[in-house]
Amino acid sequence: MEIMSINVILNEDECMYSDVCYSYWRLNNSGKFEKTVAEIAKEAGLSNNEILKIVRKHCRAYSNNIICARCSKRRLLESRTSLPSLPTSCSWTCNECIKDESHSMLLAKINFVNSTYQRRLKNPVAIDKLGARLSIFLLALIKFCGDESMTHINEYSTNKTDLLSPDINYDLKIIEELFDAKLIAIDPESNMEAITISEDGNFSFNMHQVKWCVPMGSTFSSLASFYEALDDFVRSQALIKNNYNEVVSLCQEVSRIECLSYLSRVLAAHNLQYSHGKKTQLIISKALETFSVGQVYNFSWRAAKDAAAFYIRNRSTKDHAAKTVVGNIERQLEQAIANNWNVKTYRRNYDRPQSMLSRVLYNTLLRTDDGGFHQPLSSLIVACK
Ligand SMILES: [Zn+2]
Repeated sequence: MEIMSINVILNEDECMYSDVCYSYWRLNNSGKFEKTVAEIAKEAGLSNNEILKIVRKHCRAYSNNIICARCSKRRLLESRTSLPSLPTSCSWTCNECIKDESHSMLLAKINFVNSTYQRRLKNPVAIDKLGARLSIFLLALIKFCGDESMTHINEYSTNKTDLLSPDINYDLKIIEELFDAKLIAIDPESNMEAITISEDGNFSFNMHQVKWCVPMGSTFSSLASFYEALDDFVRSQALIKNNYNEVVSLCQEVSRIECLSYLSRVLAAHNLQYSHGKKTQLIISKALETFSVGQVYNFSWRAAKDAAAFYIRNRSTKDHAAKTVVGNIERQLEQAIANNWNVKTYRRNYDRPQSMLSRVLYNTLLRTDDGGFHQPLSSLIVACK
């Protein structure tokens, strides 16, 4: 290991305390202090405190081993106690360089956000060119994150009362799709802490922590006027006519997410965890061809209850128990169809209200009252054709 070496610089040329200063900072061959402060004090006929005051006032000591990685400045040693905690040689950045660096990082982030926004402004969002999926996503996001005066789209994380979609992972997907389609840009007023620069200079950002803006061009004077135009566009029945298949597949997707999210929650209530795959998705989609989301809740609730009982009765693993739900729902579905059962519709849980996405899709566009929950898709889709 490299031995610490210290460079002492006196503050005045003719210093009457030079001996004390050198003596205080002198190291032996093993890199330890040669004398204790008490020994130095005794030799000089002074108190320990007086020695410390003299050293602080009359000299500066620098470590020759600890050097700023950026400007090569040696590290100033405040006192003896600052030494043992420091390795004899290490990568260290001085305060000035840290300040410089964080300042230039901040400038780089601001520049990144501004230039991305300016680039997007060159191709402003044309509402009448939007398909059903993206116009519904965009309206839902603005309704969800828009501030009271509709001047800004706030951070996703600031809305703690509503749901953007029935599932938190799907929320992120909505934002990602809008961002990738260049319909939103990071608002230059965002907190730059949400943006990070990797060592190789790439920018990334936390989708939940930035504010958004719509690159909307000069036709709109404000976000509020853009919002009104988009809301009118989504209310217009032309959107359904021109994008019928897209509307149908979004209805299927949203209802499926609603059911899968409920299934996960109801299993979690029984302390069972289950990550659904293709098979579960297919069964849920199949069930939604005949039954409403509220009725599929019924199948799911029963299947989760049976899985919990199965777990206790058969002393199986939780994973095995959770996996029984797919087969269970499938059986209930077959029986219900074969026997023409009148399956009771469940209601929404009070703590899981209708999401903003569902409201835009089923209330604004399809003009139902939470129809996606209470009515089977087949009846909604026929009605909207
Ligand atoms: Zn430096």
